[in-house]
Amino acid sequence: MAKVYTTLTEIQHDLKSEKTTVEELVKSYLLNIKQYAHLNAFNEVFEQEALQQAKVLDKRLKTGAAGRLAGMVIGIKDNICYKGHQVTASSKILNNFTSIFSSTVVERLLAEDAIIIGRCNCDEFAMGGANENSYFGPVKNHADETRVPGGSSGGSAVAVQAGMCHAAIGTDTGGSIRQPASFCGVVGLKPTYGRVSRHGIIAYASSFDQPGPLTRSVEDAALLLEIMAGPDAYDSTASQTAVPAYSQQLQAVNGKKRIAYLQEVFDSEGLDTEVKDALLKTIEDLKADGHTVEPASFEYLDYVVPTYYILTMAEASSNLARYDGVHYGYRSPNAVDLVTTYKRSRSEGFGTEVKRRIMLGTFVLSAGYYDAYYAKAQKVRRLIKQRTDEILQQYDFILTPTAPEPAFKIGRQDIDPIVTYLEDIFTVQASLAGVPAISIPVTNNKAGLPLGLQLITKAFGEAGLLSFATYFANLRKS
Ligand code: GLN
Repeated sequence: MAKVYTTLTEIQHDLKSEKTTVEELVKSYLLNIKQYAHLNAFNEVFEQEALQQAKVLDKRLKTGAAGRLAGMVIGIKDNICYKGHQVTASSKILNNFTSIFSSTVVERLLAEDAIIIGRCNCDEFAMGGANENSYFGPVKNHADETRVPGGSSGGSAVAVQAGMCHAAIGTDTGGSIRQPASFCGVVGLKPTYGRVSRHGIIAYASSFDQPGPLTRSVEDAALLLEIMAGPDAYDSTASQTAVPAYSQQLQAVNGKKRIAYLQEVFDSEGLDTEVKDALLKTIEDLKADGHTVEPASFEYLDYVVPTYYILTMAEASSNLARYDGVHYGYRSPNAVDLVTTYKRSRSEGFGTEVKRRIMLGTFVLSAGYYDAYYAKAQKVRRLIKQRTDEILQQYDFILTPTAPEPAFKIGRQDIDPIVTYLEDIFTVQASLAGVPAISIPVTNNKAGLPLGLQLITKAFGEAGLLSFATYFANLRKS
């Protein structure tokens, strides 16, 4: 069995001492991809291309001129454009669509010699929290194949969990990196809104979407963020704020921190007892280490999910108007004129959840309902952001569970989509506030399912977040 690496540093160490080669690494991932094909984590594997690039990189490593990500083999969520490669957002409407340019994140990763091994399954247009809304079928959790991996970046999380690649890139609108990371026992980071360019990311809700890493270590998350982040002429919402050398600042947890947990979390319906216990135990461990850990009140907890869904559905209804059967991908063979091209291509091309959201989004934006729903939700978003920022003025971090429960059974969401929406209760606060948050695996429950906890910090506070997360990830081990 091939060695399982936790960090790129270890990989690069073995490459340097010639204990392995990039080609060998790629081959071992490809083997796992074949062995675990039934988990359905990939929509497409770039097998020959990855092997080819590995050979080139092995040669380059001998001359010492390789980039900082040499040896980093990644999967990208199938809503991230990569020139000359198909991209579908796991939707029939984009079936067989080939990207004519690369996203900024892909360009930056490739420029540092990362190898992209394939595109990972996800919920259709990143809408979902269980990876069950994919045109290409559900993804299974490697810890228990009867359970979901979380979503929407479920394929990305399982690809890392099952050793099909070293790391993966996902996108997070309301928890789509953090929640699957928690369900699959990996690290998942949602950066500050605007920290990473959205250029070439298929839009779901543009005022929320952020790409970010899913990794086996905080160290790798830091390095990947450092390479992906920063201003971009192609995305005016990408911040001009300078990018710190995150990966060089991980040992810097100096002094004791002030951490808030939210009182309302404990009253929240549907909080699993083992998740609650993991949170309580961590609070005790942090206190024992000398940190100040205190309850803070967040009276808006019951409002975060409705606010998030009203706003994201509204944005989605606008963003998805472009799929018209003319510009991209699928066109209905039953269309006879322009109007039937639009109607039939969209009716046949989109899945149930996407249609539900387009319709609800259109409704909340319609004349007569705009003020009652959309405008009101914008106001509530502002309140949520203000209160979150206020707490983060008083505390370094907010600590919450990432999800109220561990990975649930495949098929459950068919019963009631609202139940799935409520799964997002702890992740959408940071999304509404635009602040960074990370999910860190802390333990497994009695059934062996991974549980993650979330740390939230102030906007552009990733350096402090990542260095504390490095310490936090080892808290239970020490
Ligand atoms: N589960 C949330 C939703 O369905 C989050 C999705 C995401 O972050 N892309 O919208």
